[in-house]
Amino acid sequence: MKPLRYFPALAVIALLIGLLPWPSTIWASAPQTELDRWQVMLIGAAEKPGTAPPAGGNWQEAHAGETLVELPPGAKGVWIRLQLPSTESWLRPGILASKTYGLNINIYRDGKLLYETTRDYQVEMTRLLLPVDSSNEENTLDVLILTNGERAGFLTPVQLGEFNDLEKSYMRSELPSLLLGVSIIFLALLMSVCSIFLSKHQRSFWISLCIIALTTGVLIASYSPLPYLYYPSGGRFFSALFELALFTMFPALGYFVSETFERKSPRFHRFTRWQAYYSLFGILLFLAYSLTGDKLYPIYSIVSVLAIGVLMLVQMVWISVLSISYWRRGDSQARVLAFGLLAFALPSATDLILYYANNKSYVLFLWKLGFVAFVLSLVIILARRISNDYKTLLSYSKQLELFNLSLERTEKLKIISDLAASVAHEVRNPLQVTRGFLQLLSKKDDQQNQGYITIAVNELDRAAEIITDFLTFAKPELESVSRLDIRELLEQLDLIMGPHASMHGGRLVVVSEEGMEVMGSASKLKQALINLIKNSVEAFGEEGLIELSARAEGSEAVLRIKDNGEGMDEEQLSKLGVPYFSTKSKGTGLGTMVTMRIIEVMNGSIIFQSQKGKGTEVTIRFPLVDQLASSTVKLPH
Ligand code: ADP
Ligand code: MG
Repeated sequence: MKPLRYFPALAVIALLIGLLPWPSTIWASAPQTELDRWQVMLIGAAEKPGTAPPAGGNWQEAHAGETLVELPPGAKGVWIRLQLPSTESWLRPGILASKTYGLNINIYRDGKLLYETTRDYQVEMTRLLLPVDSSNEENTLDVLILTNGERAGFLTPVQLGEFNDLEKSYMRSELPSLLLGVSIIFLALLMSVCSIFLSKHQRSFWISLCIIALTTGVLIASYSPLPYLYYPSGGRFFSALFELALFTMFPALGYFVSETFERKSPRFHRFTRWQAYYSLFGILLFLAYSLTGDKLYPIYSIVSVLAIGVLMLVQMVWISVLSISYWRRGDSQARVLAFGLLAFALPSATDLILYYANNKSYVLFLWKLGFVAFVLSLVIILARRISNDYKTLLSYSKQLELFNLSLERTEKLKIISDLAASVAHEVRNPLQVTRGFLQLLSKKDDQQNQGYITIAVNELDRAAEIITDFLTFAKPELESVSRLDIRELLEQLDLIMGPHASMHGGRLVVVSEEGMEVMGSASKLKQALINLIKNSVEAFGEEGLIELSARAEGSEAVLRIKDNGEGMDEEQLSKLGVPYFSTKSKGTGLGTMVTMRIIEVMNGSIIFQSQKGKGTEVTIRFPLVDQLASSTVKLPH
């Protein structure tokens, strides 16, 4: 296990844990008082609230965490009456209601306006932070919250303390989310710059990922209340960004997943196209609703808030099903995606559980981290895909190189074989005649010239051998094809080559199974094996050993020639079979080439394995005759 390999993942996890919403007690510095009880009066849709709650209205007792923030139908807001205790223990007292539902908040004391917001866009959540007078008496504050949503009121207790400390603690609790969102946006922008360097087919994939990351960042950042509080004039813009991000992410995610699975699921691919149309419709509706005032909001809220939530859920479930089914088929991308989804699903589920367990007075947070983990899994998928593309490219170029090499070899072989066929025939006859005369001469001549004549005859024999090789190469066709009994053939070879090996100070050991028959020409196969055994003999050092064995493996006869000679290095091995390649002073460099040719014509295969200084092993495979009878292999004649 390489610990460094896991370092980046650990670093990311550590970072995410760092961003978790730690309890505010860690951040908070000054002692504070909490108010968790107040009185609430609903405001009907037709009412025009003034600067104070109507006298004799219907006040209800409420406290933090109660679902009273959910408005009944026909209500457009609430009056909240806060009873502040004495505040003289603080230099500059203030109140903070960090999770407040509502669009606009007005605060009055004795009918006098203390605080007012004027927002004209759709945001549910805000916070109330207000300095109050330092006084030693109890004070009553009337808070008017109006909304066009479904909730209005304080979700968490109202804090009373030093104004500056309240502001700081609020910032500290909200800042991590904003930072998370903004840094993802920044990352997405950097990533999109990289797309310039990608090929066309990678680019669309990459860009869809950039869009997913960008929209994730925008969603997280614009879900944070901070931008709305610190740039109130940009509120409309931020809320528009949120809506657009939602509609853009929806089809981008579908596209990315569909491409990850190479569009293997046509139904899902069709769904992504449909998603694009839906999103386009949603964006147009959003524009129409923004331009025509809020009249179209009810329709828009169905398309956006309600439907897109359900559709996203459908999409996530579909993606999970797809990734699990492809994972089971061995797709490693699917596995990463499945893990990414799990990383998203678990925190989101925890969020929901906490939401309901806390009586809906919990603000969802963990989903953001989950979604970041999910986007991370998408990044991993893309990176792996790019590196796989590169690997495939490399393997193609290697194949091409090999193909070129073999083409070159084939061309060379063709030229040689043409040449060989014409020359060899012409030369062989005069050689035979000369040999005959030399032998005649040797009978008559004196002792002194005998030695020369023997050398001349030997050299003529060598020349004849070369010519035979040439001819075999040029016309490798098997004149007489018959069933060959391998064991019989090897026994004959033992008789011929055994003495040859011992003459050179080595041994030939032959082992063969019985009853193996292949189709071919006995003389040609013998020639091929003799060439190989000769090479082994020539590679001998002291105590040379050649093991020639034959056995049946499945439908094939496998012949092995193993020696303990000098062996070959990689370069020699790759040149084997190239005409004229020889490392011997008297070598022709044709033997192996001829052998390969014969084996090829007999429908066999040959593999050389060798290690410099250790030895060489040649493996030859031929189809066995019984198998041949039932197959359609055609032998040349
Ligand atoms: P030649 O024997 O005339 O040199 P070959 O085509 O038979 O030509 O062999 C080519 C070369 O391959 C040899 O010169 C030798 O270097 C190498 N070679 C072939 N077989 C062996 C072997 N069994 N052990 C070591 N080297 C071998
Ligand atoms: Mg040879």
